[in-house]
Amino acid sequence: MRDTDLLEMALGLTPPWQVSSSDFDPKQRRLDIKIDFPRGSTFTCPECGEDNVKAYDTEEKTWRHLNFFQHETYLVARVPRIQCDKCGIRLIDVPWARSGSGFSLFFEAMIMTLAKAMPVKTIAAFVNEHDTRLWRVLHHYVDKARNNSDYSEVREVGVDETSSKRGHKYVSLFVDLKGPRVLFATEGKDASTVERFKQDLTDHKGNPENIKEVCCDMSPAFISGVENQFPKARLTFDKFHIMKIINEAVDEVRRQEQKDCPELARTRYIWLKNPKNLKLTQVGILKELTVKKLNLKTSRAYHIRLNFQELFTQAPEMAEAYLKKWYFWATHSRLEPIKQAAYTIKRHWDGVLRWFHSNINNGILEGINSLIQAAKAKARGYRTSRNLITMIYLIGGKLAFSLPT
Ligand SMILES: [Zn+2]
Repeated sequence: MRDTDLLEMALGLTPPWQVSSSDFDPKQRRLDIKIDFPRGSTFTCPECGEDNVKAYDTEEKTWRHLNFFQHETYLVARVPRIQCDKCGIRLIDVPWARSGSGFSLFFEAMIMTLAKAMPVKTIAAFVNEHDTRLWRVLHHYVDKARNNSDYSEVREVGVDETSSKRGHKYVSLFVDLKGPRVLFATEGKDASTVERFKQDLTDHKGNPENIKEVCCDMSPAFISGVENQFPKARLTFDKFHIMKIINEAVDEVRRQEQKDCPELARTRYIWLKNPKNLKLTQVGILKELTVKKLNLKTSRAYHIRLNFQELFTQAPEMAEAYLKKWYFWATHSRLEPIKQAAYTIKRHWDGVLRWFHSNINNGILEGINSLIQAAKAKARGYRTSRNLITMIYLIGGKLAFSLPT
């Protein structure tokens, strides 16, 4: 067998394509594989599919391919230009690469596989390419896979935002809670993000009328966005974000009280964690503080928080009565931050209680959150929100890619 035959088989080339020569340069650690076609071969028009068109000239192109052992490997070919009767002059498509790319399909498939597992910057260093070129590949396949996504079955949506670039920019995410998968990610955290989501949903065979449940935090922008764009949807405020409001109130009480009671310094997390999650030393501190100082405001705020948490263990038919009792207690606590938190709950009453009917699983949102953290790590050094968004789709979008294996 000639070495060119071996390369031809390894590349999976079919006629008229054949390997004409290979050029190995050990000093440059580089292998160039020349691909060519016999004189008189005919090709297919990439535009209209017209067969048996002869080449009238060629353009030499080079593609980075998978390494040959430790050696960078390039495919080099004369790519024919054809003159199609209908479409005019066109550069034909080669079977080993997509048009416009400087990488072979196999090389791109490798990039896509690695990108799910490690930061793009690391891959770039590993394959000795600028990461901008790799991001271009990722954008291409993610966009293409998203074009083919079908959102016609989506009924329940969760909305959340994440900061990018050290908190100066935001990306909002819309998640199919049944998937769970990321449906749409977009810059910003205002009401227009919901508008863009509606458009994107429609573009992917989704029907806004089918969206019956939406889970989000209490941001007025999301609330008004959902009310305007998805009038059929019922809002659920998720437990995680509600607890955040209560926790912040507890911490505010503690910080105010710390001025008179220095022992409260550095006890922040003791009051925010659940008792069963405390370390033994923390339990000790908690006991000492509450036994020594019987009238600690922080301790009262803490118990109001624990009590609020119990809401989520109530039977659905008892939930509202329970919340009413809690609200009365909180608003009569003489703890200003707790009262403010209770008023916030009151303003979002229906959405807080909706949880008992929609049963939106908080684990899903937490899962999505850890996925976003993973995407951020892999998009490390991402220069644009677009890179972060592409990575979020790649990791959380459950997309189907058509790539050679
Ligand atoms: Zn044509």
